Amino acid sequence: RANAEKFEFQAEVSRLMDIIINSLYSNKDIFLRELISNASDALDKIRFLALTDKEVLGEGDNAKLDIQIKLDKEKKILSIRDRGIGMTKEDLIKNLGTIAKSGTSAFVEKMQTSGDLNLIGQFGVGFYSVYLVADYVEVISKHNDDKQYVWESKADGAFAISEDEWNEPLGRGTEIRLHLRDEAQEYLDEYKLKDLVKKYSEFINFPIYLWASKEVDEEVPADEDESSDDEEATESKSSEEGEEEDAEKEEEEKKPKTKTVKKTTYEWELLNDVKAIWLRNPKEVTDEEYTKFYHSLAKDFGDEKPLSWSHFTAEGDVEFKAVLFVPPKAPHDLEMLQQHSSLKTIKKKLIRKALDMIRKLAEEDPDESNDKKEVEESSDSNEKKGQYAKFWNEFGKSIKLGIIEDATNRNRLAKLLRFETTKSDGKLTSLDQYISRMKSGQKDIFYITGTSKEQLEKSPFLERLIKKNYEVIFFTDPVDEYLMQYLMDYEDKKFQNVSKEGLKIGKDSNEKELKESFKDLTKWWKDDSVKQTAQLMYQTALMESGFILNDPKDFASRIYSSVKNSLNISPD
Ligand code: ADP
Ligand code: MG
Repeated sequence: RANAEKFEFQAEVSRLMDIIINSLYSNKDIFLRELISNASDALDKIRFLALTDKEVLGEGDNAKLDIQIKLDKEKKILSIRDRGIGMTKEDLIKNLGTIAKSGTSAFVEKMQTSGDLNLIGQFGVGFYSVYLVADYVEVISKHNDDKQYVWESKADGAFAISEDEWNEPLGRGTEIRLHLRDEAQEYLDEYKLKDLVKKYSEFINFPIYLWASKEVDEEVPADEDESSDDEEATESKSSEEGEEEDAEKEEEEKKPKTKTVKKTTYEWELLNDVKAIWLRNPKEVTDEEYTKFYHSLAKDFGDEKPLSWSHFTAEGDVEFKAVLFVPPKAPHDLEMLQQHSSLKTIKKKLIRKALDMIRKLAEEDPDESNDKKEVEESSDSNEKKGQYAKFWNEFGKSIKLGIIEDATNRNRLAKLLRFETTKSDGKLTSLDQYISRMKSGQKDIFYITGTSKEQLEKSPFLERLIKKNYEVIFFTDPVDEYLMQYLMDYEDKKFQNVSKEGLKIGKDSNEKELKESFKDLTKWWKDDSVKQTAQLMYQTALMESGFILNDPKDFASRIYSSVKNSLNISPD
């Protein structure tokens, strides 16, 4: 093509494509899942823009947010088209070949060890799975801000981009044409495609159509087509033979003679049901459906269940329905909630709900809430055992970052913290559990930071506290030091770093002991009759001796001893 510009794939992308092309991975169907998912993402993007600017959708067919799949048996092409956001020339160059995402090398590495190609979508490189079934791929795309371009590659280390001067204009969106490999011709089979699309589109919220064949009965004039259909021809002749029924015959002759033939036509057949799961009544959604939905959302197609989920309707200033999940493992790059002013309220509510859900996860875990009766009695306690530890393992860092960044939810997040201590016996414990074990008179929460528990156990600072039977938290995560600059107190208790010079362990037991030994005296001093006597003497002293009260402390102690004498009590 005269106007084609050539580009080389970025090295990691090239390696990834080699791996895919040479893969012996048998489940090649997944390419369709990835293409549908990309089309759906592109539709989501344009729909989102249209919320604030309806113009972006255009008119007529352009405004229809759908996905269309076509099979061309002669040319051996499978094409999938969406009316999503589309890609500019620059997008095509960047997204499909020159800028490697963080997931590219991570996925290449993974392929060299465990090698499950099914995970491709999670690493943000799902598009390249097209080369499992195609040896030549064209991507035709039209973005509102640019002309229509064609990206093409035979996966030979290079791709080309040309301004599209020969295909039909798309209006907006993307069409991907897969020139199927010889051994992948099965994807031209309509039935196979229908099954696959149904399987992969369960949670896609845009209609997906297949250009599907349909057998229809068609009435055609009988004489036009006599030779090709003997049976019908004979039939019509036999009716002509009925000579006695002249009247009837005449009438019949007035009618045009027709017959029915089977004809194959093509039409867009809708393959999915587009009712979003979050819009449904929670009572009608099964656990299996939530799990499957989670898998499609997370692009995680293993058999691990989400740790927990919450399906709710939020009411108030902003009303919305949502399903939140706690994944069984952290994604390789955590995604943040979208930044948009209109999402602020939603975000606030979602965060609260998410924290609630995580708190419940901890409470329902029999490992966590060791002495809570209700939990032990609950029927599914075994299933929940160890769930929180698993959560903590995957998302502990996120909770800590949350404490650092989110002042409003700091206390809620602090409740979710887990750590080891000098008394936790190798297990994880929470701040609430720490507090419940505090010594009487202990005011502060003691902690020590370092790189490992083993190293910290040798600390001379620790020795002093252990001797006095205080519990000390080990903070050994690199982020912990930073965390403690933000987490000043918890439930009115201050955090004290035990390795800081001049640590005050507190009035602790001394104060208690002191109080204990003077118990009788304080009780006596509070007695009403004593108070009255003291007051009386105070007044007497003022009036009778003209005593000038310039030292109240001294005065009080004198009163004290005279009252003592007058009542003949010896407190010592
Ligand atoms: P991911 O979908 O995880 O981002 P992919 O490898 O599947 O990774 O796709 C790479 C990128 O190519 C997408 O992020 C998107 O920018 C672009 N892309 C792929 N397919 C389409 C499409 N149908 N419409 C618009 N952009 C697309
Ligand atoms: Mg994708």
